[in-house]
Amino acid sequence: MAAASTTRSSAVLAAALTRVVPAERVRADRAERLCYAYDATRLEALPDLVVFPESAREVVAVVRLANELAFPVVPRGAGTGFVGGSVPVRGGIVLSLERMNRILEIDRENLVARVEPGVVTADLHKAVEAVGLFYPPDPSSSATCTVGGNAACAATGPRSVKYGGTRDYVLAVDAVLPDGEFLATESKAVKRVAGYDLARLLVGTEGTLGIITRLTLRLLPKPEAVRTLLAAFPDVAGAARAVSDTISRAVVPRACEFMDPRSLDLVRAFGGVTLPDAARALLILEVDGSDAQVAADAERVAQVCREHGAIEVRHASTADEVKRVWGARKALSQAMYEVAPTKINEDVVVPRSRLPELTTVVDNLAMRYDLPIVCFGHAGEGNLHVNVMVDRDNAPLMARAEQAVRELFAEVVRLEGSVSGEHGIGVTKSAYLPIEVGEAGIEVMRRIKHAFDPNGILNPGKIF
Ligand SMILES: Cc1cc2nc3c(=O)[nH]c(=O)nc-3n(C[C@H](O)[C@H](O)[C@H](O)COP(=O)(O)OP(=O)(O)OC[C@H]3O[C@@H](n4cnc5c(N)ncnc54)[C@H](O)[C@@H]3O)c2cc1C
Repeated sequence: MAAASTTRSSAVLAAALTRVVPAERVRADRAERLCYAYDATRLEALPDLVVFPESAREVVAVVRLANELAFPVVPRGAGTGFVGGSVPVRGGIVLSLERMNRILEIDRENLVARVEPGVVTADLHKAVEAVGLFYPPDPSSSATCTVGGNAACAATGPRSVKYGGTRDYVLAVDAVLPDGEFLATESKAVKRVAGYDLARLLVGTEGTLGIITRLTLRLLPKPEAVRTLLAAFPDVAGAARAVSDTISRAVVPRACEFMDPRSLDLVRAFGGVTLPDAARALLILEVDGSDAQVAADAERVAQVCREHGAIEVRHASTADEVKRVWGARKALSQAMYEVAPTKINEDVVVPRSRLPELTTVVDNLAMRYDLPIVCFGHAGEGNLHVNVMVDRDNAPLMARAEQAVRELFAEVVRLEGSVSGEHGIGVTKSAYLPIEVGEAGIEVMRRIKHAFDPNGILNPGKIF
């Protein structure tokens, strides 16, 4: 599609849009557009317009107009994505779902919730926990990101090691397709085999095949008890080995987060959590279940960590301590800018038994390319955030970083892993996707995209 994003045609579009969405929710002023030009990558591209629908009917009307006037539409949740997915790289309309933020129903009998896409993930957590239920997907951005964005990115989080990610909790969705058709896959049934699984197809497609306007989510009973442990190791290798050994001994913790030496320097600077001076790697482990189960599992986990050389294994004994531990973990993403102004944040994943090899690969790259790399993440799933800290104004440094990242991806694929464990592909990783899926894989994805979106209206310039 030739995106006719000229000032004149966007004025025509704005005028047309105000016939289907109230004028105060169609914004063309530069200040407002600027606020919707970014995501967490700090990539920037100004949209022509920002539209705030409040119903699926309005979304349908906007998408139909965008087709008529040949404008891209870019769905957006909270803009916390790490791959430029909600950045309007080809201009057009940013369609912010933030006002469609109602929790429509929490059905305790069937253990499901029905929500609009703009519900903030942490608000859903609070609402279901208040009635004794549990929604496990918990990306570290949960205080800000939306459930719709989570579904579009198939988000995971610390608890995914035991409970799986967003993909495993989406039972059904309503979505507006790129041609303005409305698709309802709604059902509260926990299983069904009725033709293609269209809800599953939409999950993880980063807003390129449909705009999710409602979700039916699976819930679980809230676990009776949770216990949090900190295990400090004198080296990265011991911590990495303890991860797969813990799980192979039949204790699946509900969280198993890893931090490398540079992360620990940041945690020490951030304060709130004291660590032994000799600690060079840390695991945050959490077990849940009944009181008795939790006590037994915590002891087994601690034992495995000691066998792999942990110099200290501590139970976070108060709610305040647990909060401080997770606060320090969640603060890492921002604290990293103390190291350098630009972060290249990769979220590679390998089979967890190959985590020790992955940490060695990262160390070698840091040394060979002389780059500060901060590494932490959801080790229980073999998913590490490899943060190459650079300065985007330093061209030679950026070139070295790019080469290191390309090598990292090749190594990850060699280790039978993936270039993205949770952030998706968006803009920043599209050049690397062929390393993993090959040209044949890209071609199949292109054909699926074309079948849904022959005019290239929805979130163009992403993934491929
Ligand atoms: C500090 C920090 C920590 C993070 N930790 C994690 C983590 O632990 N795990 C993890 O998986 N991610 C993590 N992320 C990345 C990010 O938060 C997730 O990808 C999240 O799911 C994005 O949600 P969002 O509402 O911000 O979506 P956005 O960033 O607004 O959009 C992301 C993508 O989804 C599409 N989209 C958004 N809403 C819809 C919709 N309703 N219908 C169709 N498409 C839509 C957009 O077009 C875009 O392609 C983190 C980010 C930050 C900044």
